[in-house]
Amino acid sequence: MLIPKQTVIPTLVRAKPGALDRMGLYAERYGFIRILLFFSQDLDDRLIGRLTSSLRSRNIQILQQAPVESIGFEKAAELFGGCSANADAIIGFGGGKALDVAKYIAFLCQRPYLSVPTSLSNDGFCSPQSSLTVGDRRRPLPSAMPFGVILDTAVCLNAPEILWHSGVGDLVSKFTAVTDWKMAFHARGTPVDDFAALLSDASVYQFLARPVRDLEGMILLGTALLLNGISMSICGSSRPASGSEHLISHALDTLSKRPRLHGLQVGVATYLISLLQAQHSERIATLFEATGFWRAIASDPFDRAEWLEAARVAPSIKSDFYTVLSSRDCLPEIERALSCDPNLRQCFRA
Ligand SMILES: [Zn+2]
Repeated sequence: MLIPKQTVIPTLVRAKPGALDRMGLYAERYGFIRILLFFSQDLDDRLIGRLTSSLRSRNIQILQQAPVESIGFEKAAELFGGCSANADAIIGFGGGKALDVAKYIAFLCQRPYLSVPTSLSNDGFCSPQSSLTVGDRRRPLPSAMPFGVILDTAVCLNAPEILWHSGVGDLVSKFTAVTDWKMAFHARGTPVDDFAALLSDASVYQFLARPVRDLEGMILLGTALLLNGISMSICGSSRPASGSEHLISHALDTLSKRPRLHGLQVGVATYLISLLQAQHSERIATLFEATGFWRAIASDPFDRAEWLEAARVAPSIKSDFYTVLSSRDCLPEIERALSCDPNLRQCFRA
């Protein structure tokens, strides 16, 4: 049974051009006078300069400022060990790795976390989990939901287009994740939180109405991904945002010679799974056409043998996690789809 629980949602949400230059104002408004800042190692110095000068303009003290070099749990624990106990809040700034590590440190420190992504490549910037490596395996660890999410849409628009494609791929996976969740309810009695499922589904439709890569489109994609994170927080499970398409992507992360961006793997897997589920395929294909997602994948196609192996091991990755892949032996259908479906054919090397 799912037990109703208090949902943690961000209090501060800003999605607009120039939001980065107002960080000092936002921090001051909420009484965050002393902060810790963790940022992506390869982040443009000019962006770091904009953030720090905005904070200093409001006399916010940056007690500590450190680049995030790895997503290792051990490294995150080490950074946590060196954290000042006087910090009022923690800022994560940049790409997924830095945000995951900063979010986890905020969780360990029990301090409010401000998430400041510089691209929208997946839904991790506002989710209750951090994906860190423990030993040599990537694992989802419980983490802090952000107190604040600050999206500078002009900064996100400036990020490479492939990161946007990745965000689109991760967003659309909510269709197949929710279908898997409902299948799990019917087959195994897995409890479904209706509101979380509805919110997750609705966030995709919101983006589908205007899937354009411009400033307004960044607000739509950003808030849709943010609502996905909240849907996970509502039900205390990753079910509304992650189903069998994510299992395939997790398998690829482990076995592929060259794993790709999360949302690129997830997006193609979503379309494949939608064929098995016989739902939403047309809608997903049209969206991928409109956004240039298919073209982006075709320009650097995947390895078919790796995908078949990933699909074979995917159902055994998570225990007690029923999906369409558990419902029957899907491998023959997958093999056929990879070679015969015109959308998928272009995604794999001949
Ligand atoms: Zn994802």
